[in-house]
Amino acid sequence: MKQLFAIFGNPVAHSKSPLMHNLAFKGLNYPACYTRYLLRDGRRLKETFFALGLKGANITVPHKEEAFRACDVVDSFAQKVGAVNTIVEQGGRLYGYNTDAPGLLKAIQSLKEIKTILLLGAGGTARSTAVILRDTGYEVILLNRSAERLKYYQEEGFETYTFDNFQPKTYDLVINMTSAGLENNLLPAPEEILKRIIPSSKACIDIIYGKNTPFLQWVKNYNKPTKDGSDMLLHQGVIAFDYFTNHRFTQRDIELHMKQVFLL
Ligand code: NDP
Repeated sequence: MKQLFAIFGNPVAHSKSPLMHNLAFKGLNYPACYTRYLLRDGRRLKETFFALGLKGANITVPHKEEAFRACDVVDSFAQKVGAVNTIVEQGGRLYGYNTDAPGLLKAIQSLKEIKTILLLGAGGTARSTAVILRDTGYEVILLNRSAERLKYYQEEGFETYTFDNFQPKTYDLVINMTSAGLENNLLPAPEEILKRIIPSSKACIDIIYGKNTPFLQWVKNYNKPTKDGSDMLLHQGVIAFDYFTNHRFTQRDIELHMKQVFLL
């Protein structure tokens, strides 16, 4: 019988995950199917998962923390960051993982000579990625619009700033991890600030995918190498698929099929 997988989110209509995973299931001849589910109330995640008879799921905005709470067992990295984006059912128990951060890490490894990274934003995705980037050896600094969300990072020993107290230095890589530009035309930080950090950077990334965001458009004036969030999306999906199929395939083979999503 076919296994069923889904992505939970709100909104979820825009997600490329169903197409990515279905391409890989089909290409690798794995008997499974992946759909999307608009979940308004994150507290209903677990009962909905079982009611749908799912084998596994991905979780996107804004339910990653609720997904963390819904799991019976959470791996050590997801435990550390308090957010789960991948769930696998095994013997009636839910096992949780976070593949966003390793996905981003893979996406930036193709960029050369990066030592210092400025993260614009301090939300859920920044929370998981800041830790893994630092553990990998990068120096990570955070700049966020408001102070509230920075408390966690201060407790974790990160150098943090708001727009009001920012003291710019030179950063090799600047990553937009805010949702500015996702559904509006806003830059992630005031232009005066961007003008002080972008010219001396080596590269810039916006983790939003599938659109030429205001940040990427602005950065292009300075002729920097740029990337959108497609690579991160792809790599987090490959790692999730690897969990879904219990490591049956190589990540290279999964990637080969999944990345066809960008040709469609
Ligand atoms: P959160 O809602 O947890 O955090 C949002 C962050 O954006 C906060 O730091 C917030 O600052 C900041 N922000 C929002 N609007 C503005 C603005 N107008 N100006 C400046 N800062 C702003 O979001 P997530 O971390 O879950 O997601 C962030 C983005 O990452 C989304 O666009 C999402 O689509 C994308 N994403 C992409 C992935 C991929 O695979 N490519 C994977 C996961 C996420 P404040 O604290 O001041 O409110």
